[in-house]
Amino acid sequence: MAVEQVVIIGSGPAGWTAAIYAARADLRPLLFEGALGNPNYIPLGQLALTTEVENFPSWPAGGTREYLASALPPDRQPYWVLKGTPQPSHGINGPELMELCRQQALNFGTRVVTEDVARVDFSKRPFQLFPSNGDPVEARAVIVATGARANYLGLPSEEKYKNRGVSACAVCDGALPRFSAAKKARPLVVIGGGDSAVEEATYLTKFNTVYLVHRRDQLRASRIMQDRALANPKITPKWNRVLDEVLGNDKDGVTGVRLKSTAGAPAEELEASGVFLAIGHTPNTDFLEGQLELDANKFIVWKKPYRTWTSVEGVFAAGDVADPFYKQAVTAAGSGCMAALDAERWLAEHHGH
Ligand code: NAP
Repeated sequence: MAVEQVVIIGSGPAGWTAAIYAARADLRPLLFEGALGNPNYIPLGQLALTTEVENFPSWPAGGTREYLASALPPDRQPYWVLKGTPQPSHGINGPELMELCRQQALNFGTRVVTEDVARVDFSKRPFQLFPSNGDPVEARAVIVATGARANYLGLPSEEKYKNRGVSACAVCDGALPRFSAAKKARPLVVIGGGDSAVEEATYLTKFNTVYLVHRRDQLRASRIMQDRALANPKITPKWNRVLDEVLGNDKDGVTGVRLKSTAGAPAEELEASGVFLAIGHTPNTDFLEGQLELDANKFIVWKKPYRTWTSVEGVFAAGDVADPFYKQAVTAAGSGCMAALDAERWLAEHHGH
């Protein structure tokens, strides 16, 4: 079996950016983009589940459709282009952005395998990677960019209205007209009591009033952030409450929520146009247990300041899998570039590439 110079695991902005840089450095990267049908490691990452992306630099409002038609082969045109649904009014759709990143990586010679990596052995050199299907692969360097997934409660109604009022990213979706009080949208609901929840609630007050629903009567968030949120007249806390059901209909998407009490009070219903889950993220690191140092929340630990080095020399991590903090497409892309440069330098030093 030929030993790969660098294998990249993951196909979000971090993975594709690492691939573009590694391919242009003549490392002929092999990238595992995830198997079709696995809800945890979906090809193209979390952006495959997003609608409009308005905060990735270089995609202002405009007619992207002609560009997509010319930049991507016919069999990779994102599905709404084929279906003829309306073009987004601002920015670009998440999956469109990721298809363009993927194509850019292919243009420079990245080889793509549409499979998950189920298991790795980083105790041996070259490293061993075992896909869910197919033969094992050996690699001198590995870049892990498997991302994280937002936690949801698992309610059927939550699933039904995803992208139709239910979201797990206020920064990504908050500015959509469907949530705007100026467009007569009903209030918004944020679920959770940590820093993400109070930050998202505060952010969403730019667009509408917000109910902050928490299962206890005390927030977990840092003092300064909770003080700021609780002092905000546009935020109404709903203590000792959990989401029981998202209410809605096919025409309007989300129209409200039913909340259950955790303290024995009666259930209540609120009118709402949006429900934002902020109950934490789960990094996609199950397959790395015992192989790399993970933090208490299972994120990969970067071992050198300002570098993407993990606890195993020659294994690098990029994007949300190593980032419980920023969690943005553009920061993931930036760290993908860093990981490819780190891998290239490490290979040059140890393998004379
Ligand atoms: P987190 O701190 O784990 O908070 C999750 C929140 O969701 C908790 O309040 C938890 O309730 C609630 N929750 C969890 N499961 C739930 C369920 N099934 N039903 C209802 N509520 C549920 O996660 P996070 O807020 O995403 O923060 C993650 C890390 O990033 C933290 O270290 C945080 O400090 C950091 N962060 C920092 C900033 C910032 O400083 N600007 C911004 C965002 C995140 P309980 O409190 O009852 O457990």
